[in-house]
Amino acid sequence: MPQLAYVNGQILPLASASLHVEDRGTQFGDAVYEVCAVLNGQILDWQPHVVRLRRNLAELGIVLDIADAPLGLQARRLVARNGYRDAIIYLQVSRGTARRDHAFPARSAANLVMTVRRFDFAQRVRQLTTGIKVITQADNRWGRVDIKTVGLLPNVLAKQAARDAGAFEAWLVAPADGGDVVREGSSTNAWIIKDGQIITHPTGTHILPGIARDSLIRLGQQTQFTVEERPFTLAEALAADEAFLTSTTAPILPVVAIDGQMIGDGKPGPITGRLGRLVWQDVARQVGWRA
Ligand code: PLP
Repeated sequence: MPQLAYVNGQILPLASASLHVEDRGTQFGDAVYEVCAVLNGQILDWQPHVVRLRRNLAELGIVLDIADAPLGLQARRLVARNGYRDAIIYLQVSRGTARRDHAFPARSAANLVMTVRRFDFAQRVRQLTTGIKVITQADNRWGRVDIKTVGLLPNVLAKQAARDAGAFEAWLVAPADGGDVVREGSSTNAWIIKDGQIITHPTGTHILPGIARDSLIRLGQQTQFTVEERPFTLAEALAADEAFLTSTTAPILPVVAIDGQMIGDGKPGPITGRLGRLVWQDVARQVGWRA
């Protein structure tokens, strides 16, 4: 069965699904997107993803003419038709197709596309015992990275630098009074643990408010863990007892080295391990998924 994609109301084979060359997402990055995890055939955390999507659309004044209920229905339909147990669904909404001009077109209907790809979440569970490495890169993105736009070139370059260095992720750092601050990863949120305190950068305009980040803070509140949301420096990260990252496609992964320097004893830490079990138990409770 060919992979299927959704384009403005139609489900088509991925190979023949397309948008007009004058789609504003292509020409200006004038588009927002979401990535949701599909586990056991079910979309995880659909509601918070839609809330974030709507917020981002409103920030940019893009009008998406489909209500939440039919949008959810179409997404679930595409997931079901693709038939994968473990996958990710990608949704992209651009301002539409129009003659190229920087200013908004007077009339244009938003273009909505969705794709579904198989994804190996079991590998993420295995990586809890090995951990991953990160490098650092300068955060040279625009000033509103809380909006999830497709304008990801700095993130793409940072991720490639990580790959070239044999690392999983690049943590983006920005100069500040007390030394370089770690904001987040190129496609993940960044966390450290020091003396039992779990620390992550606060939301605002400098990071994307990750859905996995939010879930972990909520899970922490329901258990014995509390999270301190404050900026932390690279020096603090290097001296941390543990470090980890979170995202939809990497719900929690221990970071065992930053820029080639071991974190703690260079092995996934015990608190990260406990958080990892909490995260995956929560996934099991929500969608009945097991590695
Ligand atoms: N930060 C950035 C820059 C991202 O691109 C992403 C996800 O794509 C995240 C953080 C994690 O967000 P989420 O947990 O919603 O996947």
